Amino acid sequence: MANQLETLFKLQRLDTLLLEKQKTIEKYEAELAERRQAIAVCDARIEVQAAARKELVAQRALAERRISDTLELLKQRRQRLQKVRNERELRAGQEEVSSGQTELSEAETLVLELMGKVEEMEATIELAKKERAGLESADHRQVSETAERVQKLRQDLATDRDARDVMAAQVEGGLRKKYELILSRRFGLAVVEVDDTGCCVGCHVQIPPQTLIEVRKTGAVRVCPMCQRLLFIGGSDPETAPI
Ligand SMILES: [Zn+2]
Repeated sequence: MANQLETLFKLQRLDTLLLEKQKTIEKYEAELAERRQAIAVCDARIEVQAAARKELVAQRALAERRISDTLELLKQRRQRLQKVRNERELRAGQEEVSSGQTELSEAETLVLELMGKVEEMEATIELAKKERAGLESADHRQVSETAERVQKLRQDLATDRDARDVMAAQVEGGLRKKYELILSRRFGLAVVEVDDTGCCVGCHVQIPPQTLIEVRKTGAVRVCPMCQRLLFIGGSDPETAPI
């Protein structure tokens, strides 16, 4: 059983490395996802801005149409003014022309205003597109670098897992299950060493001398009374020395 615990202790070292590699892969993938998310947000904003621009352009076209209609109307009213037969028709005709001029001036003001808004919106869209292009080119650089890194890590991980499985197969099934269960509950530390003073390295509680004797002499599987981790008393093998 002493050998089994020693193997478990080594297995734990491998499992810790595997977990670190897995976390590194996840970190890289999260970074990539974040960048893609930023691009998607940019795209959505450009879409909203493009719709707003389209609406402004339509309003501008309507206002321009109103100018040409009003010009035509003014032309007709001025022609009628030439043919007035009396003072009353003259006054009415002059009023018509004057109100037409007011309308024309309003329509012209509106067109100018809308032209300004369209230009402003186009400048905003241009900026957003530049921002997106920046994100995308940075993304391309990062994607290829990160993809390489992730691929290398995944290969390492596969090799390490094979080594891990070979080692795990050397541990008796029941003990291995116990180890894996504790590992999942105790933050990646299932097998702990007992230090020179007879304390659990995991939680620093003093291990009863009787337990220490049992572990040392018979290699019995015992757990720390406080943290419930498997106790291991290291030999002279440097491989099993604490990390
Ligand atoms: Zn403990």
